[in-house]
Amino acid sequence: MITLEPGLTSQLSPRVRRIIAPNPGVMTGPGTNTYLLGNEAIAVVDPGPDEPSHIDAILREGAGRIRWILVTHTHEDHSPAATPLARATGAELRGVAAPDDFYQDLIFRPDVDLAVQPLLQTPEFSLRAVHTPGHACNHYCLLLEEEGMLFTGDHIMNGSTVVIIPPSGDMKDYLDSLEKLKALALRSLAPGHGELMPEPMAVVDGIIRHRLNREAKVAQVLAVAGGTLDELVERAYDDVPRVMFPMARYSLWAHLLKLAREGRAVESGGRWEPPG
Ligand SMILES: [Zn+2]
Repeated sequence: MITLEPGLTSQLSPRVRRIIAPNPGVMTGPGTNTYLLGNEAIAVVDPGPDEPSHIDAILREGAGRIRWILVTHTHEDHSPAATPLARATGAELRGVAAPDDFYQDLIFRPDVDLAVQPLLQTPEFSLRAVHTPGHACNHYCLLLEEEGMLFTGDHIMNGSTVVIIPPSGDMKDYLDSLEKLKALALRSLAPGHGELMPEPMAVVDGIIRHRLNREAKVAQVLAVAGGTLDELVERAYDDVPRVMFPMARYSLWAHLLKLAREGRAVESGGRWEPPG
């Protein structure tokens, strides 16, 4: 068992290498995973934060062969290195520009929009972008078709629960996007944070179950008594450490917005109540 640590470079398959960025943390686990696909002409997936030592590590591994840079989404721990890396290599940028809300890298501008051209075909591999809104509205998972390996960005992480921050984050979209993955021929998940995950369908089903259990608990708590987000997070997340409450509060909000859309919760002046 290898410990995941910043700067660690691993060969995951004949076509795939991974470099871990030096940004470990509560939200980022061991650090953002940057993947290099191919050997003759290389695609970089999620170059990570704009951190010179990490960009140098990518350039070293790329050995002058980086042709494409793809981002799963534009949060600050995934895409900011894309622009300087493209400048250094002349590589083409692929992704979807950020909506103008907080937590986003607004510098990122794709040469190719994944919504318009989802397929990257090279002599060595084909990489297909699958729109997976939920964590962020411009989030795409990327499927390496030859290996059934899905680069999941922050749609699925290993070792931590994905935070859904409205309005770019949306719980209904998130659950729908998880369902969408079940139609793909997957053999492994390569998350934006944490180790590779075998048995993709078990992972996806587990996340859906976990989210629906939380939603049921939120609805239950609300049925007992309404309250503000700060009041409700204490009751709906009483099983998680308090230090996680600021993040849990966002996911709670996302659950409540979904319940409201389904007529199962109402909000007025910052207070949430059961309907009727
Ligand atoms: Zn993210």
